[in-house]
Amino acid sequence: MEPRFYHDLRLGVLGGGQLGRMFLRAAIDFNVRIAVLDPNSAAPCRRFCSDFVQGDFKDADNVYDFGKRLDVVTIEIENVSAAGLYRLEEKGVSVYPQARIVELVQDKGLQKQFYHQRGFPTSAFQLVEDRSALAAATPALPAVQKLRRAGYDGRGVQVLADASALKHAFDAPSVLEAKVPIAKELSVITARNAQGAVESYPPVEMAFHPTANLVEHLFAPADIDEKVGRRAREIAEALITELDMVGLLAVELFLTETGELLINEIAPRTHNSGHHTIEANMTSQFEQHLRAVLNLPLGDTRMKSPAVMINILGAEGQRGVPYYKNLEAILAIPGAKLHLYGKAETRPMRKMGHITMLHQDLATARQKAREIQQQLAVEAVD
Ligand code: ADP
Repeated sequence: MEPRFYHDLRLGVLGGGQLGRMFLRAAIDFNVRIAVLDPNSAAPCRRFCSDFVQGDFKDADNVYDFGKRLDVVTIEIENVSAAGLYRLEEKGVSVYPQARIVELVQDKGLQKQFYHQRGFPTSAFQLVEDRSALAAATPALPAVQKLRRAGYDGRGVQVLADASALKHAFDAPSVLEAKVPIAKELSVITARNAQGAVESYPPVEMAFHPTANLVEHLFAPADIDEKVGRRAREIAEALITELDMVGLLAVELFLTETGELLINEIAPRTHNSGHHTIEANMTSQFEQHLRAVLNLPLGDTRMKSPAVMINILGAEGQRGVPYYKNLEAILAIPGAKLHLYGKAETRPMRKMGHITMLHQDLATARQKAREIQQQLAVEAVD
């Protein structure tokens, strides 16, 4: 498909959340109209897309009916009907990432097997069918058990410290991984277009929320040795090429205490670890995704400024219409950039928005981010 810079190119996105909403901003600049499929009539994309279709992206017929009139279909969430995507590909619609990639990432077991078979570095693992198979499995404890399907944001992941933990283990098909001594968690976002051109962003460092298992802060660039950074990018670029994937791919890596890089998992879409690119890089991840799926030249990924990204999460115990505390004070800080996702309801630990704190000195950006974090709260209006 040749890219066309006039209004009748039909691009569709499965999912209408915040990732889709920030993608719409990039699409406006390229004069591309976007249709969105989401079950929620109040989805964050609703007010801004050209065509909103209310429907279930997990349902093959809904996906097919949505996509069959479009030129290109992409995703902002990987938990969509792969069967529907295969049908669209058969009909001649360009589906990026391809249906087989979506199918692969929906199963953490298949993902791990792919890395292992193709020689990509990842922790030792074994696939287990149910709880009773765990006791006999290697790697030895402590280990990390992950449900093969339907886990996200740390749900469906647990550490099994010793034999006494086995009785609380998930009783479902899962991956049992060796527990890695993690020094840092890194992410590299890479992109590939249909011509096979590849570009990746400088690695970033993710700091997780202590209990919610969500990214709380992101530091860009990562504070790592230059050689490690180069190697992380090489792994991500080799992986997207080996997958023969078109679109944007976030590659989450562990840097171990002994300096090894291991792939943790991938997401074939725009990602929380790339939000800073809107302000901090020459090309945002959202624009890059658009360029990749339209087979355009990929954009310059260089950084303009160091940045810290802070997720705005719903406060514990608060549910209802959101109220954002202290935003005025935060907006008065030079270099603090606000993104609210327009979610109708706040819930504990729900991603409601983010702030990117830009400063030429990363240490100062970190300090300001800590101050922002102390002031920020999302509460429910009584
Ligand atoms: P999700 O898909 O829910 O984000 P992940 O597979 O990324 O789940 O795991 C969530 C977190 O658990 C990781 O960010 C990391 O902190 C920790 N973790 C995952 N796998 C391992 C491992 N093999 N060793 C040590 N910690 C791990």
